[in-house]
Amino acid sequence: MHNNSLNHLDYYRLPWNLTDNSISWLEPTSKCNLYCEGCYRLNEKDGHKTLDQVKDDLDVFVKLRNADGVSIAGGDPLTHPDIIEIVKEVKKRKMKPIINTNGLALTKELLHELKKAGVFGFTFHIDSKQGRPHWKDKNELDLNELRFHYAKMLADEGNISCAFNSTVYEDTMQYIPEMVKWAHKNIDIVHVMVFILYRAVNNKEYDFYLGPKKIDMGQLVYNEDPVTRADIKAPEVVQLIRKEYPEFDPCAYLNGSEKPDSFKWLLTGRIGTKKKIFGYVGSKGMEMVQMFYHLFFDKYLAYAGPKWTRKGKSMLLMGVLDKKLRKTFFNFYKNPLNIFKRLHYQSVMIIQPVDFMPDGRQSMCDGCPDITVWNGQLVWSCRMEEQQKFGHNLKTYPKDFLN
Ligand code: SF4
Repeated sequence: MHNNSLNHLDYYRLPWNLTDNSISWLEPTSKCNLYCEGCYRLNEKDGHKTLDQVKDDLDVFVKLRNADGVSIAGGDPLTHPDIIEIVKEVKKRKMKPIINTNGLALTKELLHELKKAGVFGFTFHIDSKQGRPHWKDKNELDLNELRFHYAKMLADEGNISCAFNSTVYEDTMQYIPEMVKWAHKNIDIVHVMVFILYRAVNNKEYDFYLGPKKIDMGQLVYNEDPVTRADIKAPEVVQLIRKEYPEFDPCAYLNGSEKPDSFKWLLTGRIGTKKKIFGYVGSKGMEMVQMFYHLFFDKYLAYAGPKWTRKGKSMLLMGVLDKKLRKTFFNFYKNPLNIFKRLHYQSVMIIQPVDFMPDGRQSMCDGCPDITVWNGQLVWSCRMEEQQKFGHNLKTYPKDFLN
């Protein structure tokens, strides 16, 4: 038994790697209009890159990395005055522009302009630790109202992929099953739910070094002595979701760069209607999706468009080679009247960022999809602060290393 009873070898290892990946991560700005507790980027007043700098970053991606989509992140990208042009530049380079935003600056008019410029999807980061002006003292479930507002806005504009991100803390973990239930009730307009497990630097147990020099971590944004758990693991979240959906089972993952049996990106694909989840995608099903997409489009798939996610019934055909999809097929067609119903596909992703190993090694997401550009180089976006301050990633050693 591994990791709370999930064995990574039972699942499909997503084929994403450094040079051929589903997405890349563009940061046109470090400016933001909110302050989120778990954010790892310094909120600078004027942190916008010029359009030329953004184009240079995109050209680095094109030169070094084959990717299906680009997450346009930040900061909040909607604060950038050239956001429409940026979307066009991504599209021009034959990648899907996906905007990662807190949504605050999104109006119907801006959405329409972004759609005309070629935006493919949105990932809205919404959780209860963002200090949102009109949502103080609200919990994750209260925020479903706000999530619905954005999902509906995209659905009304039409044919835009809709994803939600939230950072998960020890005290907000309890809401995950109900959030997954909410996503199910809105499976027709919500295509992806992402849970990012909170992480912070642990100064009590580790020392940080740049070469032989010990570094005071007080200089970094994500430095804080965590008062809450910063080691929640993806399988714990799966167990929680199973309280609401006992059959809930992932199909694919990315492992840790230092810990092969850890789940850094853990993907579950489910198929159903607003009333009922009929079943799940198995590892072979996800393998077929990735392989066929790569065969036909030369890319690995990250975001599927709404035109595709509403075709859950055609996914069932892959049941020929996939046990879980076969089961879903029989579950669905045991009532012949279901033939008239539309089936939707929805992804639930759990992201478990950097883990500190007992010997001080830092286990990153192997095949990191959120790689960004710094100084013309590809670097992990979650640790860019170290590049900016020191020019390198720091090494860690346990405090008692030399004893
Ligand atoms: S390594 Fe960091 S930047 Fe890359 S996917 Fe994991 S958490 Fe995100």
